[in-house]
Amino acid sequence: MESKHLADWLRDAHAMERQAEKMLQSQAHRLEHYPQLQKRIEEHIEETKNQSKKLEHCLTLVGADTSTFKDMGAELTAFGQAVGGMMAEDEVVKGGIASYAFENFEIASYKALIKAADMASQPEVSQVCKEILQEEIAMADWLSKHLDETTQQFLERDNDDDFFLKCLKCVRSEEHTSELQ
Ligand code: MG
Ligand code: FE
Repeated sequence: MESKHLADWLRDAHAMERQAEKMLQSQAHRLEHYPQLQKRIEEHIEETKNQSKKLEHCLTLVGADTSTFKDMGAELTAFGQAVGGMMAEDEVVKGGIASYAFENFEIASYKALIKAADMASQPEVSQVCKEILQEEIAMADWLSKHLDETTQQFLERDNDDDFFLKCLKCVRSEEHTSELQ
């Protein structure tokens, strides 16, 4: 079977990974209060960079033209834009939900790629996509397991901030009162 679709889908996956890298990086910067989540995201940034390279190798295996690589990162799907917007929001819980959705989008993409590679008799491409799939599944599982904890931490922090602001107001009004006396 010819591999026209396989090449197209590998290009899409490459654009998806470039986009993932940018989104994960912007997220990681804002997670200083969530060190565990930050660490896992930083690990996944490294995996993601490698995935892009592996896909470039796959594209050469199927004989695709790789001269247009540099522009592909800019090509965002509508889904990617929506999820990217949510991941860019300055709120860790929304970011966690969006990341989990994005990982599952990646999982589905690699499952389709594996099937297409098998049908096009491209065993190496299939093998590479299987390896990447495992990394995406591991990340999705991690995010799923930690969403509860992240949500709890976020709500507790938010509560603490409110309490702190109330205390601050209280102290200020007391200072003000003593100045008047
Ligand atoms: Mg990925
Ligand atoms: Fe991923």
